[in-house]
Amino acid sequence: MTEAWRPDEDDDRSRRGATGSVKVRVPAKINLHLGVGPLRPDGFHELNTVYHAISIYDELTARRGDTLTLTMEGEGAGQLALDESNLVIRAARALAAHTRMPAHARLHLRKQIPLAGGLAGGSADAAAALVACDALWGTGLTREELAAIAAPIGSDVPFLLFGGTALGTGHGENVSPVLARPTTWHWVVAIADSGLATPAVYHELDRLRAESAAPAPLAAADDLLAALRQRDPAVLGAALGNDLQAAAMALRPALVDVLKAGQAAGALAGIVSGSGPTCVFLAADAAHADRIAAELTAAEVCRDARTAHGAVPGARMI
Ligand code: ATP
Repeated sequence: MTEAWRPDEDDDRSRRGATGSVKVRVPAKINLHLGVGPLRPDGFHELNTVYHAISIYDELTARRGDTLTLTMEGEGAGQLALDESNLVIRAARALAAHTRMPAHARLHLRKQIPLAGGLAGGSADAAAALVACDALWGTGLTREELAAIAAPIGSDVPFLLFGGTALGTGHGENVSPVLARPTTWHWVVAIADSGLATPAVYHELDRLRAESAAPAPLAAADDLLAALRQRDPAVLGAALGNDLQAAAMALRPALVDVLKAGQAAGALAGIVSGSGPTCVFLAADAAHADRIAAELTAAEVCRDARTAHGAVPGARMI
């Protein structure tokens, strides 16, 4: 780790940092528990969530440049704007502003996390940009310092700096690690043909709740945390929960078929990931996950069925 830059210490900041390229790998996230409270006057929902980082990765390469540029390949190439609206550019600019460095870098994104899939791919890319530019520019911030810059960019960005399994509160930006003995969980990730916009899913949840007029208390994560400690996939499967699932299914009724196909394939449990439309299925072990993925592929209910494991670390240089 490079030493932190102090304004009064060094005028030749351009000599700091990496001279070659910096490559950062960042995982997707799923939510093992996603409790959504009522809509607050500030437009946010209070969340109680258990994040879990899984082994589907984006990769961001950063090189020195005279301006800030972004190119990409893979998932979403040709659809995703590479301008100032991209979370990679926003994160690089936020770090540059915070450290008073010129925002100069040539960034290239290799994307495997589907767009608008409920896997927080955009937030993952923002986390990768913070780690990559911090190394490229030699600004040497701690993860906690990067997390403070990350939170205004997106609620999931701080978690993706840390990875693992963590409790998220506030609107997800307050992250604390879940202290359980390390266990590898095996998943099958069913990727849909097209994405779902997160704000639309929250809006649908508010609509469904207003329609039913039932109280919507913020669901605690205690049962899920207790299940994690038991280290038994059947117990964890029974504790998975997502308050956004009904709303995602209302907007995308075909998700019923995906969840049924996973169940028919023998998954221990299946759930919509975050705001969807990706569905994730828990398997007993890696071989079981392979069989479920093969059956989901044969059932033709999704664009792709990938196996993954968790928890994995957050954005890291490779
Ligand atoms: P979440 O799970 O956090 O709700 P998501 O997985 O549903 O997010 P993302 O892929 O993270 O969705 O992106 C949501 C939107 O953010 C995209 O539709 C896109 O318009 C915008 N966006 C900006 N930068 C990126 C990026 N680098 N990758 C993906 N999306 C981005």
